[in-house]
Amino acid sequence: MDNNRHGYADNGSGADMVKGTLYRILEKPLNYARRKSPWILHLDTGGCNGCAIETFAILSPRYDMERFGALSKGNPRHADILVISGAVSRKIKPMLKRIYEQTPEPKVVMAIGSCAITKGVFHDSYNIVGPLDRIMPVDVYVPGCPPKPEAIFDGMLRAIEKFREKVEK
Ligand code: SF4
Repeated sequence: MDNNRHGYADNGSGADMVKGTLYRILEKPLNYARRKSPWILHLDTGGCNGCAIETFAILSPRYDMERFGALSKGNPRHADILVISGAVSRKIKPMLKRIYEQTPEPKVVMAIGSCAITKGVFHDSYNIVGPLDRIMPVDVYVPGCPPKPEAIFDGMLRAIEKFREKVEK
């Protein structure tokens, strides 16, 4: 039995078939709406939190990400763009994987800062299992320790562009 990308069975019976058909009908308008307004989930996995503070800055009114339609949300099931900063520890790895799987397709992952990209200053720590792209596919990298808000902002614009490309495919 085939499942579409939201898990509804295409050849199943009753409710699954109705859900699958409804999804196929609504997919285009829904994706059009998502394309215009990507929602962001920011996660900090640890590190010194410097990257988290700089990322909060771009979500604040000073940089005003919302003018590009991007909105910060607290639930991976509602998110389109995962923004991840900090070193990936052994403890947080399973939670990160679950959050990645809970985020609907198409999605974009951003790695913020040296800790997420290369393990950074924690490279020889016994409990760090990163870099992030060993745990999940990463679309946009923003290097720095920490990167400036302007660099994160630029990365966010690239992430929005990538998300739009994925939705339009
Ligand atoms: S990259 Fe630097 S600023 Fe960012 S969490 Fe790691 S140590 Fe802190």
